[in-house]
Amino acid sequence: MALHKPYPENSLHELHAGEQHILPSRRIFVNRNLKMESVRMMGFDMDHTLAVYRDEPTEALAFNATRDKLIEEKGYPDSIRVLRYDPDLIIRGLVVDKRLGNILKIDQYNYVVRVYHGTTKVPKQVRRRVYRNSRIRLSSDKYMSIDTLFGLPEATLFAQLVDHIEEREGRRRRDYTEVYNDVRECIDRAHADGTIKRQILAAPERFLVKDPELPQTLQEFKDHGTELFLLTNSEPDYTHRVMEFLLDATSDAYPRWHHYFDKIVVNAGKPRFFRSTAKPRVLPPKEVTAAGMDPELSTKVYEGGGAGAFEALVGYEGDEILYVGDHTFGDILRAKEHSRWRTAMVVQELEREMEREQELQQQYRNLDSLVAERRRLLSRIARVRHQLQEVRRTAHGAASAGSGVLDPVRELEERLQRLVEEGVRSAGTIRQRRDEVEGCFNKHWGKLFKCGEVNSRFGHQVKVFACIYTSAVRNFKAYPVSMYFRSPREIMPHELGSERA
Ligand code: IMP
Ligand code: MG
Repeated sequence: MALHKPYPENSLHELHAGEQHILPSRRIFVNRNLKMESVRMMGFDMDHTLAVYRDEPTEALAFNATRDKLIEEKGYPDSIRVLRYDPDLIIRGLVVDKRLGNILKIDQYNYVVRVYHGTTKVPKQVRRRVYRNSRIRLSSDKYMSIDTLFGLPEATLFAQLVDHIEEREGRRRRDYTEVYNDVRECIDRAHADGTIKRQILAAPERFLVKDPELPQTLQEFKDHGTELFLLTNSEPDYTHRVMEFLLDATSDAYPRWHHYFDKIVVNAGKPRFFRSTAKPRVLPPKEVTAAGMDPELSTKVYEGGGAGAFEALVGYEGDEILYVGDHTFGDILRAKEHSRWRTAMVVQELEREMEREQELQQQYRNLDSLVAERRRLLSRIARVRHQLQEVRRTAHGAASAGSGVLDPVRELEERLQRLVEEGVRSAGTIRQRRDEVEGCFNKHWGKLFKCGEVNSRFGHQVKVFACIYTSAVRNFKAYPVSMYFRSPREIMPHELGSERA
């Protein structure tokens, strides 16, 4: 258990024993109760889960490789060579509208709350006109959702290409859906043909974070008797080289990386893996050694297959398995829907987002008092409106009887007018302050998990599909291996006024 000074607490978060000593940005958050004691086997995705990539160099590498392929293999003009990766342009959870060349932020109700055309923000009136009446059907191939960190470079390149094309090709420009499909094809190839991976393996310390707490975390699970497996879409040789870099020679008890794992599945083909009924193929010794792995590994390395056959292989099923991954759709949503595996989601961005949140506490407090003030103002407006209605009714009766109650009416009307104007001003101030605070997260898109007061689509997916979530695998180390992760009590609005809430 890491011992730091206790951190100031948010009253909504119910802490587990000892949790006040863990940095908030390194805690594990619980959507659904999870008893680690009932977990018999724990599986890990590799890329962006066990293997934490340094975001900027890795994303820039994929961006450049894709841009160059567009020029060399798809005939795009050499002028696009000037495009450089901008790490702020896209965040996870955004959706690309391929046809219109737009990038969308969507809330939990599938309502489009922010739009960029290429790299330019679309004004509210235009956004409303284009998206208000069309429910975003994300299953349609008009849209592409950015579910993993691997998706950031392609959406960034697409947004920049939209600007570039509009500048150079004017009205007779090429079709944006084709541009997106070209980008997709080129990045796909850059992943598959080794353009990206060769460079990562040539200098792994430039791209990967080697964290001593990772092997310590895995060792604690192993020592406790929890079986571990690795389930990755990466190829055998890449898996071997990355895991070797991260875990080899980090512990006397587990000198080689594969000693941590009871089963290893490469080229898993997730999300298909969670639905497939195929048997994982045992990787023949020749292929094991060709990938650079020890021949002793040939009994426990598999390729592809499906979750059902994998369960039969390991002798555990459903909620006895906890799978830790980073991909909302490919790892978490499908594992939950099709296999009933318990799920832990690694959201790397959470650490930075929570640290920012801590730094901005004073601004949040100021914002809260502005909102409380505005609430009081709105109830005063409602009261004056009601009074006015009453006095008007009396005035109507009195006027017909010839009495002079018109002054109180006028006086109330003027008071109401002043309050309403104050209300408009306060709404503007709150909006401006909120935008300033949001801009401290991502200057274009604000927070990852939220759209103002409601959850973003990404936040909603994490909430619904991940049993627990955290910013890194090593965060488990600060908790007892037999931890009972309990979710906070859900509160519905009607419970807020009751005594228990
Ligand atoms: P995992 O996260 O460990 O399952 O591995 C993800 C694998 O998918 C890595 O080998 C990536 O290089 C690969 N990958 C990510 N995005 C793409 C893509 O767009 N096309 C092909 N492979 C990809
Ligand atoms: Mg992954």
